Amino acid sequence: VVRLQQVRKSFNVGEPTEVEILHGIDLALAPGEFCAVMGPSGSGKSTLLNIVGLLDRPSSGQLSIAGEETTQLDDQALTRLRGRSIGFVFQYHHLLGAFSALENVMLPMLGLNGFPNAAMRERAESLIDSVGLTRWRDAPAGRLSGGQQQRVAVARALAMQPALLLADEPTGNLDTKSADAVFELLRQVNREHGTAVLFVTHNPALALRCDKTIEVVDGQVV
Ligand code: ATP
Ligand code: MG
Repeated sequence: VVRLQQVRKSFNVGEPTEVEILHGIDLALAPGEFCAVMGPSGSGKSTLLNIVGLLDRPSSGQLSIAGEETTQLDDQALTRLRGRSIGFVFQYHHLLGAFSALENVMLPMLGLNGFPNAAMRERAESLIDSVGLTRWRDAPAGRLSGGQQQRVAVARALAMQPALLLADEPTGNLDTKSADAVFELLRQVNREHGTAVLFVTHNPALALRCDKTIEVVDGQVV
């Protein structure tokens, strides 16, 4: 579902200085593969995930997502491809705190100017059930614990049944037990739906439980 060939990324840090952060990344992720991404702070892991997630463009190189070569696509086409193929779970979950857990999960289904319908509601309810939050369905997301909020974020990421789930330190600010529960949830989604997962973590014990691990050091996969 993911293929990167010689992907480079530079940032402009005040004209005329360009700093290259990713130095020619080659990476392939098969459908259903669960891959850990490790490496020191500042090595380029989040930069890499943002590119794979079509939130940022490579400076050069080839990137294909769900069989589609992306480098020539315009912004609108990228947004469409992202919406239908990719789910995101980040360390800071970006839920809307005043909205209920259920409403947060329904949001990605609405699209532009969308109105909720019964089918969406049913699907969101079953996602909330599947992450074990039935009792909290109508509670404001901001009132839930960190681990519970992260489970809402996982349910929301699955709203569009993506082929690829990108998780950037989703367990980073959770205690060991909640981190384990969120990890198990990702594994379960991966097993049951064949969702490919790129999972950034600093936790070697969790990385050992993935199908494979890549290490990013100084903007290169080692
Ligand atoms: P951590 O483990 O701490 O999250 P990381 O591996 O995710 O680190 P990145 O966030 O990818 O690291 O950052 C890699 C490098 O790229 C850093 O030196 C960072 O300052 C730089 N960088 C990231 N985004 C930008 C940007 N928009 N403009 C300039 N530099 C950036
Ligand atoms: Mg990061």
